Amino acid sequence: MPEGVSQEAFERGPVPSVYREAVSQGNEERGDPDDLRAKADVNYMEASAAVEQGLAQEGNSCANCADFIPDQNGDGFGACAEVEGYIGAEDYCVIWEPLEGHDEEAESGETES
Ligand code: SF4
Repeated sequence: MPEGVSQEAFERGPVPSVYREAVSQGNEERGDPDDLRAKADVNYMEASAAVEQGLAQEGNSCANCADFIPDQNGDGFGACAEVEGYIGAEDYCVIWEPLEGHDEEAESGETES
């Protein structure tokens, strides 16, 4: 857990302001904090534990999830476009979405600015 961050904030947020309007590595906007999923509701845990429990395939983690917003402020944790609180690259949850493919979809689609 980052220094100075309470257990409550780690689990539920708020995350540092740099993440609040951030876009994930798969181009998903982080929505209204009230609409994010609770970690407990999506079985958020270390990716290695998720593999042991048969919930994740080896190699899948937040680091290669389309919804992950990598660390922006050097505290070792990022955030997620779908799940509340601080998110570690080595963790996992059951709504994991592959970054590969998602990216291609985003790149091939026309986007209006
Ligand atoms: S695996 Fe879950 S918590 Fe991790 S980035 Fe993806 S959606 Fe968010």
